[in-house]
Amino acid sequence: MISVEISRQVGILINRRGIIEYVIVGDRNRIEIPKLATERVGRARFRGLRFIHTHLNNELLTKEDLTDLALLQLDMVGCLTDIKGSVPGSIHIGYLIPANKKQKAWDFIGPMDIDSLNLDFIEFITELENEFVRERGRLHQLDDQKEKAVLICVVSPGSKKIPEDNLLEMKDLCYSAGISVLDTVIQRPKELHPTYLIGKGKMEEVIMKCQQLGADLIVFDEGLTPGQINNISSITELNVIDRNQLILDIFAQRAKTNEAKIQVELAQLRYILPRLASINTAFSRITGRIGTRGPGETKLEVDKRRIREKIAFLEGRLKDIEGIRDRKRERRKASGIPVVSIVGYTNSGKSTLLNLLTKSKVEVQDMAFSTLNPTTRTIKYPGRKNIILTDTVGFIKNLPQVLLKAFIATLEELKDAHLLLHLVDISTPDFEEKIQAVDEILKLLNLYDKERLIVFNKVDKTNRAFVKNIENRYNAVSISCLKKEGIDRLVETIVERLKN
Ligand code: GDP
Ligand code: MG
Repeated sequence: MISVEISRQVGILINRRGIIEYVIVGDRNRIEIPKLATERVGRARFRGLRFIHTHLNNELLTKEDLTDLALLQLDMVGCLTDIKGSVPGSIHIGYLIPANKKQKAWDFIGPMDIDSLNLDFIEFITELENEFVRERGRLHQLDDQKEKAVLICVVSPGSKKIPEDNLLEMKDLCYSAGISVLDTVIQRPKELHPTYLIGKGKMEEVIMKCQQLGADLIVFDEGLTPGQINNISSITELNVIDRNQLILDIFAQRAKTNEAKIQVELAQLRYILPRLASINTAFSRITGRIGTRGPGETKLEVDKRRIREKIAFLEGRLKDIEGIRDRKRERRKASGIPVVSIVGYTNSGKSTLLNLLTKSKVEVQDMAFSTLNPTTRTIKYPGRKNIILTDTVGFIKNLPQVLLKAFIATLEELKDAHLLLHLVDISTPDFEEKIQAVDEILKLLNLYDKERLIVFNKVDKTNRAFVKNIENRYNAVSISCLKKEGIDRLVETIVERLKN
């Protein structure tokens, strides 16, 4: 056999029709599969290529073979050994298996005598793919339309980050972005890896996990450098985003006014621009993603010059809009219904409160005001005036400068509120810091003079005497959305405050 003659591994990639698409020659101990042109058809399907190659030292499938199998989503990988004369004696086959309790990614056939191999490949691979589809259907039945992600929390050496808190915030951000989280990974590298942020082996493990679970997306809780995003994208077809991009996604979805849309698009473009240094196919996936989730009517361009032109154009539009804005708001004000907006730190319970107030004992009405945010609801009280209630994107710490403007723009509608409910999770030890963080942003938005009511939520998780004490200090109302405590008093206080 030629492989023995030239003393190199030889491999072939065979498609489903049995035709050899690639022939690859390695060296004595290794063989490398080149970048494959064929795209996969959907996530639950394999690539439609199986890789069969020779091993000269009679070893079984190696870790590298199996990594190729998983990362490239090959149909199967096989190695031929015991080559005597022109015929191989044995074969060892590996194939991917669906998510399972043992956390295994692959399984084997053989090693066995090649003559006793009796496998109807097409039947085998069809059944295997169907198994993947069934298993993922079970995992994903919750919400099949949503994008699915695996979260990676990277705790750098010596950092004070508390991964559990961090993951909670990240999950909340994903939830806000309409992404469902399939799994989380906490990674504590001994040192930060310049190429992938975490080590290569760990990165590969994460990718395999994503593929097995059927995730579309890897979300890092840290900012990734343009280089790191590129490197990770070059070893997987999964989308990779970092915390900043996730936040941009949320803003993009929350931006309802023209001005906010432009601000968010500007932030996206400014975020992308420096990341365009190395244009490659991986990059179009990143920009493609932002573009599709972005608010603008145009897809983002992957061209630096055109991005600069677009930025200049949008900056001009922004100036024009500022004039129109004030007139529009006047009209909305004229509707006369009081507007109450819930603000507060991420995870304080804003959405829960909104749902509680609009679902329990009050009629829920999805907003008819198309100019307002979809998270705006009208609550009707028998014998009382209607109130418009709006939820806002959560206030987040460590907001990078490039995102700050866009964030502020999504809060534009707060200017119309008659009353701000500042919701605080009283059960977190640093709640006073968070109150301050929110206050700072309100000042920045010139909203600090507005009528405000501090509402302490999650009192079910704290000591009552402690809450009473703080309640007085802040002139606040305390509630538990979970136990539905204090809600009536809250509504009374709101109505009372709106009379002013
Ligand atoms: P948002 O980010 O401010 O919109 O917060 P969410 O409404 O999404 O709530 C964040 C988490 O806090 C959810 O897991 C809620 O179930 C939980 N939560 C909300 N209100 C309460 C409460 O009164 N008590 C407790 N223990 N948990 C709550
Ligand atoms: Mg929320």
